[in-house]
Amino acid sequence: MQLLDGKLCSEKIRKEIKKEVEAIVAKGGRPPHLAAVLVGNDGASENYVAFKVKDCAEVGFDSTTIRLKDTISEQELLNKINELNNDEKIDGFIVQLPIPKHINESNIILAIDSKKDVDGFCPENVGNLALGLPTYISATPNGIMELLRRYDIETEGKHCVVLGRSNIVGTPIAVLMSRNSTPGNATVTIAHSRTANLKELCLSADILIVAIGKTEFVTADMVKGGAVVIDVGQTRVPDDSKKAGFRNVGDVDFENVKEKCSYITYVTGGVGPMTRASLLQNTLKAYQRG
Ligand code: NAP
Repeated sequence: MQLLDGKLCSEKIRKEIKKEVEAIVAKGGRPPHLAAVLVGNDGASENYVAFKVKDCAEVGFDSTTIRLKDTISEQELLNKINELNNDEKIDGFIVQLPIPKHINESNIILAIDSKKDVDGFCPENVGNLALGLPTYISATPNGIMELLRRYDIETEGKHCVVLGRSNIVGTPIAVLMSRNSTPGNATVTIAHSRTANLKELCLSADILIVAIGKTEFVTADMVKGGAVVIDVGQTRVPDDSKKAGFRNVGDVDFENVKEKCSYITYVTGGVGPMTRASLLQNTLKAYQRG
């Protein structure tokens, strides 16, 4: 078994981006600028945004965090988005999800200018993804594809089973894996909570991508020998032995599954760091598109 090391790959990507930023600045240009809108005080969201700010600093991007109270109205948030859409100093921005329940998430995503939608969530960018046109591919699926590319994983003609059909992970990764590209050209099956014979389906997978948010759901008896396993899942489980009071647990029973597969990601050093690196790539792209 070989670990697909997202931490290592993402470090390389950050170094590549940093070089590009240095070249831009050396020629007198301003650095790319990412803004993150954080509504409320959700602990996980606070962490994600803090990581994004740290990543920006590391590669030489400017970043701005916009903190809004969780009592903000939908209209006030829409006004903020409109401001960011029109702010020439901001190349791309994200609204950290989830947002409070009284705000309609779709309305917020629809309001983001597709040229600045570095999360790749808005309909125009999702549509371009489906059509194979240039777009911002949302960070997690893009990170997974980059990981497969950098490890030269053979995907053509393979059976790829994707567990989960969310708009941000399962559906876009299924589209990307089935595309006529490298990586890609896989025969893809999307599974979800209503899928029958899930175990048999997983056992037929050469590449198994799991994004369901159910801790250690995929066990060794569900995995074909020699399969490539990508664990997207990341669930906080209380753990008093950790300084933070919790640990992140994946959707795959890593300790037992790793014995069976050819390649596997580990919850904290796999897809997560690649997702962060992809957001930087999208921000650089937004800057270059102008
Ligand atoms: P989501 O929107 O909650 O979607 C979960 C999907 O899993 C749904 O399609 C659901 O099916 C399916 N599902 C749930 N239980 C299932 C079961 N028992 N069998 C088969 N399918 C099942 O989740 P998400 O946003 O895609 O996130 C999934 C996981 O990835 C979470 O742990 C999240 O924290 C993690 N994540 C990690 C990163 C990262 O950077 N590492 C990024 C994004 C997400 P239905 O559609 O039928 O309900």
